[in-house]
Amino acid sequence: MIVYRNEVSHRWRRQALLRAFGEGEVLRENLCDADFLLVAAATHHGYAVDRACPVCGRDSLREVRWIYHERLGRRSGTARSEEEIAEIIKTVPNITVHLVEVCVECRWNHLLTATVASPE
Ligand SMILES: [Zn+2]
Repeated sequence: MIVYRNEVSHRWRRQALLRAFGEGEVLRENLCDADFLLVAAATHHGYAVDRACPVCGRDSLREVRWIYHERLGRRSGTARSEEEIAEIIKTVPNITVHLVEVCVECRWNHLLTATVASPE
C-alpha cells in the first residue's frame, strides 16, 4: 500500500488557466501541448478518470504519475503505475510523485498535485 502525504495542489492554477481559456485570453495550442512522450505515458502507465476533458469535453482524460528521487537513478522522471510505485517505495521510500492529467485526444495536460509517497 502507498501513503501519499505533503500534498501540494496545483488545482487553483488549473482553474485559473481554464478560466482564462474560457474568456479567450489563452489560446488552445498553449494549453494542449502534451508531447508524444506524455501522451504515450498517459496511455500506457496512466488510467482513465471519470470526468470529461475540461478543454475538449471528450471522455479521453487520463491521469498518470511521474516519480522523482535522487536515489532512483534513471528511474527518476519516469511514469509509473500504482503497482510499480508500491514496489519501488519498498526500497526507496519518500519519493516525490507528480500526478498529471492528460487528454489523449486534444493533448490538454496539467500538473494536479505533487505528493510524497511512502509505504504504509
Ligand atoms: Zn481534451
